[in-house]
Amino acid sequence: MALKIWVDGKLLEKSEAKVSVYDHGLLYGDGIFEGIRVYNGSIFECDAHLRRLWDSAKAIRLTIPVTQSEFRSAMEQTIKANGFTDCYIRAVVTRGVGNLGISPEKCPRPTMIIIADTIELYPPAVYEKGMAVITASVTRNHPNMLSARIKSLNYLNNILAKIEALDAGVPEAVMLNHNGNVAECTADNLFIVRDGQVATPLPTEDILQGITRGVILKLCGRLGIPLVEKVLQRHDLYVADEFFLTGTGAEVIPVTKIDGRVVGNGQVGPITKRLIETYHKHVRGQE
Ligand code: PMP
Repeated sequence: MALKIWVDGKLLEKSEAKVSVYDHGLLYGDGIFEGIRVYNGSIFECDAHLRRLWDSAKAIRLTIPVTQSEFRSAMEQTIKANGFTDCYIRAVVTRGVGNLGISPEKCPRPTMIIIADTIELYPPAVYEKGMAVITASVTRNHPNMLSARIKSLNYLNNILAKIEALDAGVPEAVMLNHNGNVAECTADNLFIVRDGQVATPLPTEDILQGITRGVILKLCGRLGIPLVEKVLQRHDLYVADEFFLTGTGAEVIPVTKIDGRVVGNGQVGPITKRLIETYHKHVRGQE
């Protein structure tokens, strides 16, 4: 059965779900989005995703033309129309259709899109064995240029870093911020473990404040795993005992190599393993 996509209040066949070539989301990357997972038929961390979508909209001076609860219902309707119990949702709100100038004033109505589909970002083997990453030469956007905390349709900063990773033959890259501190990976937040303590960069280090990151922080608290949000330098990654990434699509992925250096003993570490197991139980309400 062909997928049904929600566009501006209507459920359309995938082949019919299209946006105008004058949409400023396409012409200028003027818009925002969310990536959300559905587990066992319920939208995981729905409130947190809606809050971040609305925060992103506010930050770019875009008014989403429905309420949060209407948007939630639209997502539920889309999941149901496609018969999913487990899926990935891509929610997009663009500035809408305008003319060929960049001015948002010429875009009277935002375009809203909800796609429910499946997603597999990395091969299953990396979850067992760990992944290799590099540090990208491209710097994470300066916060006065475009805050990394806005989940915007401008992903070229991340895409350029991703291309560096692919050129180096690895799936992911660590991005440093303008101060040279560790920010995040191209589509995931990062964590290290050193001497039994979990550490992750602060939200003010030019990262997207990931929903999965937030869940991991909460789970560390519950499991009694010592945790700190602090400035990390590349050196901290090089000498870490364990290293893992988090994201809605990727979930929790161990990293076992960075810039050719082996992380810890090269195996997926015990705290990472415990958090992966706990995360999977948590998302299904089994913990
Ligand atoms: N950082 C970036 C740049 C991202 O695009 C994402 C989302 N894929 C994340 C971090 C992780 O955020 P979340 O856990 O909310 O998916």
